[in-house]
Amino acid sequence: MSSKAWLSLGANLGDPPAQLADAVRRIAAHPQITIIAQSSVLSTEPWGKTDQPDFANMAIGIDTTLKPMELLDVLLGIEVAMGRVREEVWGPRLIDIDIIAYDQFEIRTPRLTLPHPYAHERSFVLVPLGEIAPEVNDWVKATAAKPR
Ligand code: ATP
Ligand code: CA
Ligand code: CA
Repeated sequence: MSSKAWLSLGANLGDPPAQLADAVRRIAAHPQITIIAQSSVLSTEPWGKTDQPDFANMAIGIDTTLKPMELLDVLLGIEVAMGRVREEVWGPRLIDIDIIAYDQFEIRTPRLTLPHPYAHERSFVLVPLGEIAPEVNDWVKATAAKPR
């Protein structure tokens, strides 16, 4: 049984579009992940903490046999392999890979919250995701905004 998951990628240090491409390549190389959709790359202004360089953002859709927590570990591992050092939340970064949705799975723990808790407030997530999966966008907007 495989599942579909929707990922948001962002970068604002180094060469952001090149890092997005590198991250997509690393995700695609995983034996339990197949990329099924890929948005265009958007240039966006920083969110939450505005005194930092603009971001490049994109969304991808994947088919995977990894469970949600396993997928999170794979993606965090790719961030580390690409040299990300976690300093401050919402600070500048070489690469950020968030899981926006995993099927219609809902979970709320500090380690993993699905759908992503801020997705519905972020046009840098919704615009690329809407390009490749408008129906997922609608579900995320309705579900992430719901009081939990
Ligand atoms: P934000 O989550 O607001 O976009 P961020 O991406 O800057 O902030 P990070 O420092 O990259 O935050 O991640 C902090 C932790 O968030 C991760 O270690 C991970 O365990 C947790 N996390 C919770 N839900 C998710 C999710 N849906 N996708 C990715 N990470 C998540
Ligand atoms: Ca993020
Ligand atoms: Ca993140």
